[in-house]
Amino acid sequence: MDLSGVIIKGIGGYYYVKIDKDIYECRARGVFRNNKITPLVGDSVDIIIIDEDKKKGNIQNILPRKNEFIRPQVSNVDNVLIVVSATRPQVDFMLLDKLLILYQIEGVKPFICVNKIDELKNEQDNITDVYRKSGYTVINVSGKKGNGISELKEKIKDKTTVFTGQSGVGKSTIINKLMKRNFFETGDLSEKISRGKNTTRHTELVELPDGGYILDSPGFSSLNIDKIKCCDIEQYYPEFLPYIGGCKFVGCSHIKEIGCEIKNALEQNKIDKERYERYVKIFTKNRT
Ligand code: GDP
Ligand code: ZN
Repeated sequence: MDLSGVIIKGIGGYYYVKIDKDIYECRARGVFRNNKITPLVGDSVDIIIIDEDKKKGNIQNILPRKNEFIRPQVSNVDNVLIVVSATRPQVDFMLLDKLLILYQIEGVKPFICVNKIDELKNEQDNITDVYRKSGYTVINVSGKKGNGISELKEKIKDKTTVFTGQSGVGKSTIINKLMKRNFFETGDLSEKISRGKNTTRHTELVELPDGGYILDSPGFSSLNIDKIKCCDIEQYYPEFLPYIGGCKFVGCSHIKEIGCEIKNALEQNKIDKERYERYVKIFTKNRT
């Protein structure tokens, strides 16, 4: 009998396919190798069951993918959540902007989760302001106190969401809140390593209690996006989109040209100055 499910994990040539409450250990048949398609975590697949008692099967067919990520290697992603801290560790804005570009290239518009808002003295933090103004969805949470967690739950319910963020931002704390249990060790990195528990993370979809999956992806410490053509970068700045096409020159780089609508918007404070300055840096670096 044919059944459909989702690959939640792949290890050593075995794929673990979730069908309702059961997980089947599956091999992929040769047909994929011939077509140069390798099953990916996140794939919706049809399997045939070889042994129902031992929960073993064979993957027969991979359904068309909505998208396919390279880092982490996963398909059919609905959301990417970039977790940052309102306080410490400090946000690396260049890295954040590059990540936003990268994930948009991979086919989703990421959203930002600002954690540790309980530590803020003022009403709002700078990150939330800047990125909301730039057209991104920003959710404020406190993984520790629970603020904003229900809003976050609503956003990721029944979806497949990749979580990413630098170590220490509170990703494990948030995931534990979402999972309603201690799924990860939390604490200082040094503590975690000495307890030796956080090192064995691999690509695995974890089912949320209220439906949907999350994938915990280790944060990037640096990111090279030099291969992206400089002229393609503008489209990954949501705040530029209303003005692109209005510039005097076709192929305007929005840096030195006259009659540039982006620079006009910048002068009118409609575009964040620092975001723009980082755009200029990325553009210049990629212009070869
Ligand atoms: P991860 O490395 O991103 O998984 O971060 P952890 O979840 O292990 O958290 C790192 C540190 O930040 C720990 O000391 C947590 O107690 C602390 N932390 C996490 N979330 C919050 C929060 O919402 N507020 C405050 N004040 N501290 C938090
Ligand atoms: Zn321009």
